[in-house]
Amino acid sequence: MPKRVYLWENCVKLVSKTTGPEATQPVVGFNKTGPPGSVTREKTLQTKSLGWIAVTLAAAGVLALTLAGCDLKSPANVDQKRLAAADSEPGNWMSHGRTWSEQRFSPLDKVNTDTVKSLGLAWTYQLATNRGVEVTPIVVDGTMYVTSAWSVVYALNAKTGELLWKYDPNVDRAIGKYACCDVVNRGVAVWKGKVYAAALDGRLSALDARTGKPVWTVQTTDAHLPYTITGAPRVFKDKVVIGNGGSEYGVRGYVSAYDTETGKQVWRFYVTPGDPSKPQENKALEMAVKSWSGDWFKQGGGGGSPWDSMSYDPDQNLLIFGTGNGTPWDQKKRSNGQGDNLFLSSIVAVDADTGEYKWHYQTTPGDDWDFDSTQTLIQADLTIDGKPRKVVMQAAKNGYFYVIDRTSGKLIGANNFVTVTWSKGIDLKTGRPIEIGDPRYKTQAMSLVMPSGFGGHNWHPMAFSPKTGLAYIPAQEVPSVYGSDPNYVYKNGEWNVAQNPALNTLPDDPKARAAMKNALRGKLIAWDPVAGKEAWHADHTGPWNGGVLATGGGLVFQGTIDGRFNAYDASKGSLLWSTDVYTAALAGPMTYEVDGEQYVAVGAGFGTLFYIIGGFAIDHLGVPENGRILVYKIGGKAELPKPVLTPQPQPKPPAATAAADVVAAGKMKYQTYCIFCHGYNAIGAGVIPDLRYSSLLGDADGFKGVVLRGERKSNGMVSFASVLSDKDADAVRAYLITEANTAWATKHPAQAAKAH
Ligand code: CA
Repeated sequence: MPKRVYLWENCVKLVSKTTGPEATQPVVGFNKTGPPGSVTREKTLQTKSLGWIAVTLAAAGVLALTLAGCDLKSPANVDQKRLAAADSEPGNWMSHGRTWSEQRFSPLDKVNTDTVKSLGLAWTYQLATNRGVEVTPIVVDGTMYVTSAWSVVYALNAKTGELLWKYDPNVDRAIGKYACCDVVNRGVAVWKGKVYAAALDGRLSALDARTGKPVWTVQTTDAHLPYTITGAPRVFKDKVVIGNGGSEYGVRGYVSAYDTETGKQVWRFYVTPGDPSKPQENKALEMAVKSWSGDWFKQGGGGGSPWDSMSYDPDQNLLIFGTGNGTPWDQKKRSNGQGDNLFLSSIVAVDADTGEYKWHYQTTPGDDWDFDSTQTLIQADLTIDGKPRKVVMQAAKNGYFYVIDRTSGKLIGANNFVTVTWSKGIDLKTGRPIEIGDPRYKTQAMSLVMPSGFGGHNWHPMAFSPKTGLAYIPAQEVPSVYGSDPNYVYKNGEWNVAQNPALNTLPDDPKARAAMKNALRGKLIAWDPVAGKEAWHADHTGPWNGGVLATGGGLVFQGTIDGRFNAYDASKGSLLWSTDVYTAALAGPMTYEVDGEQYVAVGAGFGTLFYIIGGFAIDHLGVPENGRILVYKIGGKAELPKPVLTPQPQPKPPAATAAADVVAAGKMKYQTYCIFCHGYNAIGAGVIPDLRYSSLLGDADGFKGVVLRGERKSNGMVSFASVLSDKDADAVRAYLITEANTAWATKHPAQAAKAH
């Protein structure tokens, strides 16, 4: 088994030599990216252990090699039988959550509570961009498959980090506008010699695992609509399934299944009903449409986009997935404030072969808060009240940890794992939350709600250890205020949440601002799903920390927003090991074995939704270098060079001379259209430019060139001329100048005082 990785590299040459002109082309040189959908093959492939000439001259040698295990279907030769028996080969991590159960538990135990203190860096691989890293690597037979931002796919030697090939789908950077929460990607799936990867623009590709060349590509979405894909596909029974995102803009969410060999669509399940005057696609949607009112179908389709979690249950032949929030967030504007709005913010199970509805559990009926129910869905067999139960579990954005019977969809238990203010509990008879106060901002202009759309738990993967019986939740407490936007009008392809943009600001009073920052919390919570309560927790310096891995070595691994990668005792929560990774490590860690040695891997690189509050919430780490895959082993001696984190220099801003009403108007436009990437009060988080430091603040035409004429479109900054006028652009610039002067005065108090 361990030698297989080296043999398949030789197989590449055999296949290349024997399959015609295309394959006998010279291997592309180092790191050259070609036209759309280009493949870069590492030059070293040509010169690996067995020479090309030797292969062609010595037929007997070829035969010997084949007999020695040069399996032409390898690598990524994973199938139903092998995935079903994934526990029999714990050295591999063959699907997103390691097994179909999505537990993110590895039985490997060479790295354990005793040995973890000797864990050191084995190798690192630098990804192509400095945008967010959310990938969970897949490792099969010594090859690692990872993705970076902008949906680039890499195959690496899992022992050394050497690049084997790279596939760049060359996503149009303008699509970045539709990615609410960064241009990230969470990983690939593998099946029978192919690697399945989705691109931000809605394409799904099957890549040849030997070469990275696309075998087929399908557009899974209407490319004219603001759909995006950031999630990892899952594979079972020769079908690859993928969802989509876009509910903050206006889409009708769905999950689709494709034939793994041909790319032909097998089934599609829509999360929301279509136009109620027409027949619905299926009986489930005929049921769902009764829970809607108003004109959601004219506002992009109601949302519900299932953008992350999926869990395949081979015993019940179910695909269980989580669905997103509605478009817009404010239910009054979406559905006249009425109905449950199925299947928004729900956990839905469909027949894995046909996509036919089987059951659903709605965590947040008639969602008003961006409570996507797309968090990790983990299957486990638990003993509850003395009875064995087949459950699926989720620590939802809305603050409750749900334990659901996955054979029926019936709720077994639900308890809050963080502070919850919008409801006082879940009625176990009806399965419905018991709301308190006015969390739906119906009678008040604004409601302060915890948790908020940032989630008590968001996409950062949760893990479950069958050894401890505990789930490990990357939890956080981030309150938000909600209020209806009196001026909301649905606009195609724009940010359509119907929230009052006047609320998207920090308090001016520095003390109030500091108090708000201190209220933000991040924790790793070990949760007992049977008892419905916390077993232990570890505090972090702030919210938005990394995904979790649990292991047979009694460890729980988690990265943090402030640049650490930690290992905790899974039973007690004590911190046993911690290393500096110099940037946020938010992705799901994983572990694997090559040649009898255990490795622990994690993706590191700042980005994601946290752009909006990151600059405010954490003392940022400067302009980060590109994201990395970091791989550790016992006794690892590799060095992670401390990055040179140059703070973005702030030129002295122009004087703030604009009239107060112009600044106020500019602030409102900023809070409506710019804030999601550039941050609250224009405080940048280090990756996307901090506009207070922009050299264009004093250049009215240059500023409009970017904002209205799209002159930085190739970097992802598209034109906002569809929603901002010439006058608006001037006003936004005037507002930014005031924020720039505030920041300048804070940093240069002496000079600022002299100026006054
Ligand atoms: Ca959302």
